[in-house]
Parts: sequence; C-alpha cells; structure tokens
Amino acid sequence: MTTPYPPIFDGHNDTLMVLYENDPERGPLFFQRGQKGHLDLPRAREGGLAGGLFAVFVDNPPEDGNYGDRRRETGDGYEVALPPAIGYERAISTTLAQIAILLRLERLSEGQVKVARSAAEIEACLAAGVFAAVLHLEGAEAIDPGLDALDVLYQAGLRSVGPVWSRPNIFGHGVPFKFPTSPDIGPGLTEAGKALVKACNRLGILVDLAHLNEKGFWDVAALSDAPLVATHTAANALCRSARNLTDRQIETIAESGGVIGISFFVADLRPDSRYDLETPLSLIADHARYIADRVGVDHVALGSDFNGARVPQDLGDASGLPRLLDALRAAGFDEDELRQVAYQNWLRVLRATWRG
Ligand code: ZN
Repeated sequence: MTTPYPPIFDGHNDTLMVLYENDPERGPLFFQRGQKGHLDLPRAREGGLAGGLFAVFVDNPPEDGNYGDRRRETGDGYEVALPPAIGYERAISTTLAQIAILLRLERLSEGQVKVARSAAEIEACLAAGVFAAVLHLEGAEAIDPGLDALDVLYQAGLRSVGPVWSRPNIFGHGVPFKFPTSPDIGPGLTEAGKALVKACNRLGILVDLAHLNEKGFWDVAALSDAPLVATHTAANALCRSARNLTDRQIETIAESGGVIGISFFVADLRPDSRYDLETPLSLIADHARYIADRVGVDHVALGSDFNGARVPQDLGDASGLPRLLDALRAAGFDEDELRQVAYQNWLRVLRATWRG
C-alpha cells in the first residue's frame, strides 16, 4: 500500500520571468513539458503541485552586468554587489508584459489554470484539480510613489507584494547576497515603503518579507496588521546566508500567526552555502524541522523558487516533489503535519491576509 501525497501549494516561482524571456509567444510553453527549468503545467501535475505564488520579476538591463561579474569570494564566503536600481519605464513595461502572460495562460488553459484572487478560490481549485496561480510582485519598482498602480494591479489580480527585491528602490533597501552573515545589513523602509505596507494592509495584499534586510523586516513587523510572511527563505542558524531569517525573526513571524516558505535554493540551505546541486533533499527538511521545533509546524510551508534558483538535483524539478514529501516524512512530520506544510498553512495565512 502506498501512502497518498497531499497537494502542494508553493510560495514562490519565477516562471513568468522565464516565459517572458524565453518563450517567443510569451506563455504557451507553460503547457508543454520542458527539459530546462523546473516548472510547467505537465511537471506540476506529475509532482502534485496544485498552485502557488507566481512572481513578476524585472531584471536589470544587460549593461548592468550579471551575477557572476558582481560576485566576489571573501575567504570564508562570498559577497555579491547589488545591481543598480532600475527605472520606472522598464519596471512598468516588463511588469505589465509578465502579468499579461499570466492572464493569457488562464485564458488559453481551457479551465486548467486559474488566477486565484481569494483563499476560497484556491480551495475550489484544489478540490477541482485546477492549477491556482497567485500574482506576486518581487520588488515593487512598477508601483509609483503615489501608489495608483497598486489599486490598478489589485484589480488585475495582484495579491502579494515584496516591497524590494535585493536591489534598492524608492520603498527600501533589500538584503544583499552575502555569506556568512546575519541579515542586518543596510537601512530599512523609506516613508514611501511604509505607506506601501499600510496600503497593502488596507487592500488585503500580502507583504512579502523575503529579500528585505533585517531593518526593513522590523519596519514591516511594527506596521503591518496582517500575519507576517516570508515566501522563500530559510533559517540563518543552519545557513548563515544574509537572505535567511534569524531566530528572532522566525519567532516574530510565528507570534503574528504567519508563515515561512522554505526555499529550495541550495546556497541558502547548505551550511557552507556552496552552489552544489548534490545537496541532499534532507537539507530542505532540516530547515523545516528547525523552524517547526522552534516555533511550531503551523508556521512552516514551502517556497521553492522554481525557475529562479538552483535546487537539489535529487528533486530535479516540480515532478520530483513527492520525493521532498518523503524527506519531510523521514524528518518526523506526520501525515497531518505534512498536509499543513504542503498547503494548509499557506491557505490559513492567505485567508487571514486577504480576508476571504
Ligand atoms: Zn527571490
């Protein structure tokens, strides 16, 4: 007898960016089983991935150099210089193009994909086997200082905003890619950033703490009336990447009733932060176990970073997710806890944040 696997709802993927950059028709490749990357509809179905947050990410122009150019070894670790801020013109045009891809996917899918705007809609999708995509901005560069775009994008389906990706913008300063260190690097939110958090609370939009530095984190924690959420991150106690949360941050998220999506990015999982794809899946389970033991399983979820980061080769792509659920079982999560981590914790927090 085989134990059935619960459906998985995931906190972060960069599929829209990949389709924007690589699909000549900007969208339809999502329906074909690909060899590259991690996520398309066929591989989601194979792995039991029922939906997740779909990030809009606006990359810097090529003249700003690439990650490799900016990375520097520091003896005991590394440091990556952040790319410069991007202009509003580039941000808004790329953002509209990526949102259009998601809306087009929904239309072309003949009922197989839905852009979910409420927790009730996600639940209905899970029950009906429809893939549920939630629209997220990873970095709010497409939002103007007067926040007009926020209202417009909300109507287009936007339900989650990370005020900053790691590079700076008018809302705040992100956390750089650096190891080994705490996330306490640089200043926090600007006044515009604080206004953005309040506006998100008012509209019922999730504020994502992933990619904020520690000061920005505390700024959001002091202001927000919603559960605190970091969509794709891990525990700084196990891997001292600046992107990872300290114990005090983990405790504060738990006290707010929020959730932490564990990232599958190997450099944020490994104690040595190496880009080693031979990283065992048990390391994702270790971070889940650490957070569950510290603050309770209610606050543990998944945040794959599929199509945006390098993940363990034992997982491969979305079709390998049952092997991750097995690794979580091996780390001591029982079947009730596994359902919580797989999708129920996300649903609880989204329902509270979106008020329905
Ligand atoms: Zn990210």
